[in-house]
Amino acid sequence: MSSKKGRREWYRGQGLWQHVPAEDWKNWGWQLKNRLTTQDEIEKFFSLSPAEKQGCAFANKKLALAITPYFFNLIDFKDEDCPIRRQVIPRVEEMHVAPEEMSDPCGEDGKMPVPGLVHRYPDRVLFLVTDRCAAYCRYCTRSRLVSNSQGYDFHPEFEQGIRYIESHPEIRDVLLSGGDPLLLADRKLDYLLGRLRAIEHVEFIRIGSRIPIFLPQRITPELTDIFRKHEPIWMSIHANHPKECTQEVREACDRLALAGVPLGNQSVLLKGVNDDVDTMKELVHRLLMMRVRPYYLYQCDLITGSAHLRADVMKGLEIIENLRGHTTGYAVPQFVIDAPGGGGKVPINPEYVRKISDDEVEIRNYEGKVFRYSRHVDGMQPDSLESEPAASPVGRILE
Ligand SMILES: *Cc1c(COP(=O)(O)O)cnc(C)c1O
Repeated sequence: MSSKKGRREWYRGQGLWQHVPAEDWKNWGWQLKNRLTTQDEIEKFFSLSPAEKQGCAFANKKLALAITPYFFNLIDFKDEDCPIRRQVIPRVEEMHVAPEEMSDPCGEDGKMPVPGLVHRYPDRVLFLVTDRCAAYCRYCTRSRLVSNSQGYDFHPEFEQGIRYIESHPEIRDVLLSGGDPLLLADRKLDYLLGRLRAIEHVEFIRIGSRIPIFLPQRITPELTDIFRKHEPIWMSIHANHPKECTQEVREACDRLALAGVPLGNQSVLLKGVNDDVDTMKELVHRLLMMRVRPYYLYQCDLITGSAHLRADVMKGLEIIENLRGHTTGYAVPQFVIDAPGGGGKVPINPEYVRKISDDEVEIRNYEGKVFRYSRHVDGMQPDSLESEPAASPVGRILE
C-alpha cells in the first residue's frame, strides 16, 4: 500500500460476497440490511481475538456494533492491528474509562438551545438530524447519543431546530450531522434542505458524513440530484487511512463533485491507524486524487473508552511538520483540538515564527532555514509591540 505502485491501485470488489448478484451489492439498502452487527456474524468469516470478543459483548451497552459488508471487506483478517479493523471492531479496552475521559467531551449538551441543535459559534450551528450511522466508529465523539445504546433517548427535533434557525438571523451557516444525515431517505433530505434554503439568512449549508466511506453505494444519481437542486451544498467526508480510498469511494466522490458538491475530509488522529507520517501522506495524496481537500485533522476527543486509540498531540504536530512545505498546501489539513468541556476547535500548529521585533519578523521554513521579513511599511517604523503588548496576538503567543 505504501509503495508508489500501491498509490495508483484502487481496490474494488465484492470480496467475500462474490455469490451476491452485483445488483444487490451496489444497492445501499442491501448493504444496510446485511450489515454485520454481532460477534457470531463476524465469526462466520474470521475468528476474533479474545479482546475483540469481549468488546463485542460489551458494545450494545456503549455504542452499537455495525459494519457494512462493503467496509468489512477492507479488513485484513490475519492482522489484529489492521487499521480498518481497529476503527470498527469493538475491543475490551472500550470498557476502561480513564480519569480524563468524558461522555460529552466537547460539551455539546450545554450548548443545545433545542434538542439536537448545537449553537457554539456566533454564525453557525451544528444540526444533529439523526442518531444512526451506516457503521459505527469505535472512537465516536457522540457515542452518548449515537446508536441509542446508552439510553440517552435522543429525538432529533427537525421542526424545533428549523424554527430556531429561522428565528436567529445571525446563523448564516448550518452543518448537518448526527449520526449520519445521508441515512435519511431522499424525500426527507430534500425536504430538510428545502426548508433550510428557504431561510434567507442561511448562506452556507454543509453535510458531515462518513457514508461516502462506509457506504459509497448510497451516493446515487437521485441523491446528487437533490444536492444540485439545493446547490451549493458542501460536504465533509471522514477517511482516516489510505485503504479507505477505494475505487467505489472514488466513483462516489466523482458523482458528488460532478454534481457541484465541494468535498473536504476530516480525519481523526488514531493510534495504530494513521499516527505516522507515511500513512498520513499517502492518505492526503489519495484524497486529492479523488478531488477531496483535507480539511481538519482532529486530535481524538477524550471520549470514554478511547485511550487505546488516542495518539499523542506531538504525533499530530510531527505529521503536520512533515507535510507543510514537503507537499502542496492543498494536502495539509488543519490540526485541531476540540477543547475539552466546550471551547470549540483550536488550531495546533508547528511554530514557524521565531521572533517578532519592532523591525522584523523572524521566520523559519520547512527545512529549518531562517528568514527575516521587514515590518516597515511606507518607510514608517511599525508600532512597537512593547508599548502595546496586548494588541498583537502573535506577540502574546511569543511571550
Ligand atoms: C465543528 C463544529 C462546527 C463547524 O466548525 P467549522 O470550523 O466551521 O468547520 C460548528 N459547530 C460545532 C458545535 C462544531 O463542533
